[in-house]
Amino acid sequence: MYDVKSMSAEEFIAHEEILETLDYAEKNKNNIALIERILEKAKLRKGLNHREASVLLACELPEKIQEIYNLAEQIKKDFYGNRIVLFAPLYLSNYCVNGCLYCPYHLKNKHIARKKLTQEEIIKEVTALQDMGHKRLAIEAGEDPVMNPLEYILDSINTIYNIKHKNGAIRRVNVNIAATTVANYRKLHEAGIGTYILFQETYNKKSYEKLHPTGPKSDYAYHTEAMDRAMEGGIDDVGLGVLFGLEGYKYEFAGLLMHAEHLEAVHGVGPHTISVPRVKQADDINPDAFEYGISDETFCKIAACIRIAVPYTGMIVSTRESKEVRDKIIRLGVSQVSGGSKTSVGGYYAPEAEDDCSEQFDVSDTRTLDEVIRWLISKDYIPSFCTACYREGRTGDRFMSLCKSGQIQNCCHPNALMTLKEYLVDYAAKETAEMGERLIMKELANIPSEKVRKIVLERLAKIEQGDRDFRF
Ligand code: SF4
Ligand code: SF4
Repeated sequence: MYDVKSMSAEEFIAHEEILETLDYAEKNKNNIALIERILEKAKLRKGLNHREASVLLACELPEKIQEIYNLAEQIKKDFYGNRIVLFAPLYLSNYCVNGCLYCPYHLKNKHIARKKLTQEEIIKEVTALQDMGHKRLAIEAGEDPVMNPLEYILDSINTIYNIKHKNGAIRRVNVNIAATTVANYRKLHEAGIGTYILFQETYNKKSYEKLHPTGPKSDYAYHTEAMDRAMEGGIDDVGLGVLFGLEGYKYEFAGLLMHAEHLEAVHGVGPHTISVPRVKQADDINPDAFEYGISDETFCKIAACIRIAVPYTGMIVSTRESKEVRDKIIRLGVSQVSGGSKTSVGGYYAPEAEDDCSEQFDVSDTRTLDEVIRWLISKDYIPSFCTACYREGRTGDRFMSLCKSGQIQNCCHPNALMTLKEYLVDYAAKETAEMGERLIMKELANIPSEKVRKIVLERLAKIEQGDRDFRF
């Protein structure tokens, strides 16, 4: 029985409710009157429920699809302006006891190089990331209670936050590790993590169980209810995601939105971010073996519908996607991208040898961070290294209310300019620096408050003189 407030996975992600939603969407996919009503509601920027959004996703009318894209673009501009936040993944360890069929770190893969960074190696990796200009990391580790116990993760977070190297600093560590207990989530919260990220992979229980034949991750309910435990442990920024390609995308889309509705209904706070990875080529993983692969066009439509359905939630696209796809999708609602990423354990400090490869998946966008920054600037986006919110205590419902009212823009925009300035002064290539300076000058005029503009100007000058870490 579907119950958005239930604490049981099979009730808040009720299979029957998803099937009925897909049936409703299919029957109404060309129902112009209904689609127009849904689009009118979406224009209020308060979001849509999973049934309404599923109708838009199913819609096949070209002119209505164009309206969906236009609205997604407009909502993105209203909530996020033209800023894109940058981050990088940091793989700590690829030891894993699970049997996930779509990931080369599964236990049965005996030929992939297994690695776990020591604290000294983490310092080297993070120093290399700081030298690129990164301020925000997402740490990743396989599930292995012996090799990667929580203490190791906590030690690593502590190491990362304490690295002081030139003007560099990692100011926000997001954590992507296996589902765990409330007590462990509390420890992660106390360690000062930013967002806790856990991809659902698939919301379809039957498919989930097939794809996770062995290991602790095979427990669908324990995995699906993880965000509730994380929130009970005090983490109020959580990041959802599904791995598109494992199951029908319409099913996943409805499940994802039902999960967001559940978090909002129970905890008063929806997901901080949603990630939209697709299954990619990796060591012993062939994406063509998965029957639900989606085209680039469908991928863009999913992103646009997510943007319309949950306008306040950040959307992340990683370097799993090529430059060409990121080019298309970024304007439809993406707020965060990774840049210069390595998906191996180690590899930022010194490249891995070919016969010693520990990559989780092939990176499609292989540009350096500086190239990504230049690309964003050339498309009139402001690359941002801002990490201000959780450091200013703007998390959970406090963050959401600022976000939903649009007031967060008053912080995001000046913070983007100041953190971009730090990047330009400390790390940028000459051409990037020149383009960035022109962008900052142009964007200063878009700060509505004269008082704030004056403060930003003063701080930009101070950054040139060596001061760092200003924020609103
Ligand atoms: S997806 Fe995660 S849990 Fe599954 S094999 Fe890969 S690292 Fe392990
Ligand atoms: S001000 Fe907050 S919401 Fe805006 S970019 Fe910075 S951290 Fe993100």
